[in-house]
Order: sequence, then structure tokens, then C-alpha cells
Amino acid sequence: MANVSEQRAIENVIIIGSGPAGYTAALYAARASLDPLLFTGQEPGGQLMITTDVENYPGFPDGLMGPDMMVLFRKQAERFGTRVVETHVTRVDFSERPYGVFVGDDEYRSRTVIIATGAVAKWIGVPGEEEYGGYGVSACATCDGFFFRGKEVIVVGGGDTAMEEANFLTRHASKVYVVHRRDQLRASKIMQQRAFDNAKIEFVWYSGLDEVLGESEPTKHVTGVRLKDARNGETREMPIDGVFIAIGHKPNTELFKDCLDMDELGYLKVEPYSTRTKLPGVFVSGDAADRVYRQAVTAAGTGCMAAIEAERFLEAEGDGS
Ligand code: NAP
Repeated sequence: MANVSEQRAIENVIIIGSGPAGYTAALYAARASLDPLLFTGQEPGGQLMITTDVENYPGFPDGLMGPDMMVLFRKQAERFGTRVVETHVTRVDFSERPYGVFVGDDEYRSRTVIIATGAVAKWIGVPGEEEYGGYGVSACATCDGFFFRGKEVIVVGGGDTAMEEANFLTRHASKVYVVHRRDQLRASKIMQQRAFDNAKIEFVWYSGLDEVLGESEPTKHVTGVRLKDARNGETREMPIDGVFIAIGHKPNTELFKDCLDMDELGYLKVEPYSTRTKLPGVFVSGDAADRVYRQAVTAAGTGCMAAIEAERFLEAEGDGS
């Protein structure tokens, strides 16, 4: 019986993921006449699809909405011939070349692969958290802190991310409460001390987020939170303007756990100042390999790097190898 894959041409480059990294890699690969094939993944557009205004992407002085931005990214990649397939890669086979990328039983083979699967912020999963996402609930202080000028916010979490977010938010907010479920922080000592020394930060210990409270009129916004005491289960309401969830991120790298090196948190390892992995012709861009910066502009930057590296790799190998 003929397999569909037998009739399929071998691709030059398959890109997995459709955030700023994936689309930028696609744009550069398409302009290099590599005819890239891009699989969007389950959430086309990635994390920017759940961001409201993006004001820190250079070139857009008036800002723009995250989802609108991703429409533009896609349009630009498609303009030069990127083939975008809205589907989710279920498996890869990097044990032989050309590399295998599978969508269910459907098999694709490619001489190079650019991984741009991104990361997702971890959410707590309490009522109101999703409903008010982008309307007062955020997982990115760098993206959304600016909208809380002179307001009071809480940051949930006790790790380095929470301390970093809390410190950053004091540039805008009048008061930042760090809500943590224990009375000890997981954050590094230096980050803890910085937060303790910041007069605008107050700690709310033994407290878990139980619910985000809000109103829909006149516009959808957060009015407060219900906190639950971790010691006795008692709940209390706290009025607040914004909620930042900072309990960590999770890179979407499960697909590659058997074939690529990753750190203890699942971020893929690349060679310094490059997007190269230990496998020739497999590159990683964006948040899947970045636990530090995690910005749209840095993701786009590494997407560009990955495409240029793929192009050079193919060129060095010569056609048809
Ligand atoms: P993390 O170290 O795993 O800390 C997560 C925090 O969130 C912990 O305090 C944890 O509480 C809390 N938490 C987890 N699930 C929760 C839930 N469901 N409800 C309430 N609280 C919850 O994650 P991270 O802070 O994102 O840091 C990840 C890694 O990146 C670390 O290695 C960190 O050092 C690094 N990082 C470094 C920097 C920097 O150096 N500038 C900045 C950010 C991150 P418990 O403590 O009770 O478990």
C-alpha cells in the first residue's frame, strides 16, 4: 500500500511553531528561497494571542494588539511563499536524515528543522483567572506592567520570576503585594533581598489565590481577589487592580525529550551565540530555548538566526544531500 509520505518531496526546512520565532524563521527562510513549511501548533500565534497591547515591539510606536501583531507576522511570512499548515506536530523522528516530522500518521521529511514551539506561562486554574486574562490578569509584567500606573497589584508566586516581576512592577504600580502560599521564598537570596528592600513591595504569606473577582461594566476589569489561608483554609477578599501570575513557565519541548538535550526545566540546549543543537540541521529559536529573556523581539531575533543558520547549513551540504 502506498504511503502518502512516499509521494511527498523532501522539504528544505520545516518550522514547528507559529509565534514570533517561527514566523520570523519562516520569513527569512522563504526569502532565501527555501520554500519553508510551517506547522502552527495547537495555538497558532503563540503567547502573543493572549496578550492585549504590545507596546515594546520596536517599529510600532503606537503599540498594537498581540493577536493583530501575529496576523501581520503570518502575512509577512506568507507573502514570500511560506506554506502555513494549521495543525499540531505529534511526533518527530530525528534518528535519521532527512528528519521525520509527523502529524498523526502523516509523515513529512526535511533536511533541516527549526523548532519554535515556545513556552507557556503556568496558570493556577482558579475561577476568574482565565476570564479576566488580558483584562487585569497577566503572566508578563514586562508586557502589561505599564497599564497599572499608580495602581495596586498582586504577584502570585515565591520564585525568582515572582521577585523579578514584583520589582519590575514597582516602576509602575503604587503598591505590589507578593502573595505566596508559604512563609519562605524559593527565590535566590539576592532576588529576595531586592524585593525585601523595596518599600513598595509587601508580602502576604501563607496565602493562595482562590478566585479573581471582577466586573464587566463599564469595561471588563479586575476588582479584587479572594485569598485562602494555607494554614486554616479561611478565605478573605482583597481589593486589587491587577493580578500577575508568576509561578513559572513551561517550555513546549515534550516532543523532543528523547532526541535533544534540555536543561532541568525542559528548555532545549543550543550552542552559545547560535541556535544549533547537537543534531546537524536541527535548530531551536524562541522561548523553547530561552529561560531568560522570553520577549517577542528576542524570539523573532533567534528565529532570524535559525533561518540563516539553516540556509548556511544547506548551502554547505550542497543540493540533494
Ligand atoms: P520556580 O522557581 O519553580 O518558582 C515557582 C514559585 O511559584 C514557587 O515559589 C512556588 O511555590 C510557586 N507556585 C508554583 N505553583 C503554584 C501554585 N499552583 N499556586 C501558588 N504558587 C505556586 O519558578 P520561577 O520563579 O519561574 O523560576 C524558574 C527558574 O528560572 C529558576 O531556576 C529561577 O532561578 C530562574 N529564573 C531566574 C531569574 C533571574 O535570575 N533573573 C528570573 C526568573 C527565573 P513554592 O515555593 O511553595 O513551591
